[in-house]
Amino acid sequence: MTEIDLDAAKASLEAELERVLRRTGAVEAHLRGGDGRNEADFEDRVAYTELDDVLEQLDDAGRADAERIRAALRRVADGTYGQCAACGEDIQPRRLQAIPWTAFCVDHADQGEGA
Ligand SMILES: [Zn+2]
Repeated sequence: MTEIDLDAAKASLEAELERVLRRTGAVEAHLRGGDGRNEADFEDRVAYTELDDVLEQLDDAGRADAERIRAALRRVADGTYGQCAACGEDIQPRRLQAIPWTAFCVDHADQGEGA
C-alpha cells in the first residue's frame, strides 16, 4: 500500500487546472479575432486559416486536459485517486508526481491519455 499525499495531489491538480483553463481562455480570446485579419491579403488569410486550425486543436487539447484534471479531482474526492483505472493497483508515486492527473499505472499508461 502506497502512501499518497492527497492534499498535495489536490493542490497540484487545482494549480494545473487553473493553468490549463487560463491557456484555453487565452486561445479562445485569440480565436474571437482582433488580430487584423480583415486587412490581410489572400495569402495572409490562408495563413490565418491554418493558424485557426492549430488553435482549435490546441483548444480541444486544453479542454481534454481540463476534463482529465477534473476527473482526477473527483477521484481525490471519492477516495480512488492513485488507483489504476485498468487494474486497480496503486499507481507508482513517482508517476503520480510526474503526471498528477493520470488514471493509469505505468503498465496501463497507453490506455488513452497519451501520458
Ligand atoms: Zn494498471
